[in-house]
Amino acid sequence: MKLMVQIDDEVLPLAQCFWVRANPAGCVYSSSHGDTAISPTEAHKDFTPRQRDRDRELKAGWTIRLVTRKQWDEQAAPCIKGTCEHRKQAAA
Ligand SMILES: [Zn+2]
Repeated sequence: MKLMVQIDDEVLPLAQCFWVRANPAGCVYSSSHGDTAISPTEAHKDFTPRQRDRDRELKAGWTIRLVTRKQWDEQAAPCIKGTCEHRKQAAA
């Protein structure tokens, strides 16, 4: 069965989306394919195995969300490569 999800006003198969984990500034630190989890909570378990660490991240404002391939290219790729504005600001 193909799971469909809606992101903004697009409806697409979950398998074509990506889960991303971002710090409070919005900088993406991890990502995985959409079909590896069916909810942000489940995706978070893959990214951060320990419950205690997940609780701490959520409390600090880290987010787990689903993005399209296009959003991934725009919002996550620079972070993963270390060339995003967040890292530049953090280094400044
Ligand atoms: Zn970033």
